[in-house]
Amino acid sequence: NVKNAYSISQIIEEAITLTQPKLQRELVELNYTDSSNAMVLCNEIEIEQVMINLINNAIDAVQDLADKWIKIIVQDIGSLVQLEIIDSGSGIPESIQPRIFDPFYTTKNVGEGTGLGLSIIKGILDDHQANISINNDSTHTCFIIQFPKHGG
Ligand code: ADP
Ligand code: MG
Repeated sequence: NVKNAYSISQIIEEAITLTQPKLQRELVELNYTDSSNAMVLCNEIEIEQVMINLINNAIDAVQDLADKWIKIIVQDIGSLVQLEIIDSGSGIPESIQPRIFDPFYTTKNVGEGTGLGLSIIKGILDDHQANISINNDSTHTCFIIQFPKHGG
């Protein structure tokens, strides 16, 4: 998988475009704020897949709630570019957090989840020297990804 220098913002915009039909069908509001102009050395198809998987998980988490929104916040933090994907769901219980990146771990009904999304994400991000963590509270769920910027 070839890596090239890409604008992270452009990749996120493409992922959002691809998830629009599902967002509209489920009436989920997505708000995207980006103050970064960072380039990252990456395989753009893989990073787009990461974003699509996270947005799909967020939609699944909020679709039955009265208040359903997703926020994506991108900002530069020194030599890193940070992506936050926040949803209005009730958070991921601490007891299952150690397992959610395991292949085939799912809390969804049979046929609704494969449990592969987050394990694929973890593999892709490891290959990009990027880090993913959860910053949770009971009023929303937040995944944080930090990428090394291309050229520091
Ligand atoms: P799947 O979506 O097929 O269940 P994933 O690997 O994408 O598999 O996610 C694993 C599990 O992590 C989910 O079943 C769910 O329990 C939890 N999870 C992932 N994202 C979220 C989220 N945004 N809010 C709440 N739980 C989540
Ligand atoms: Mg998933």
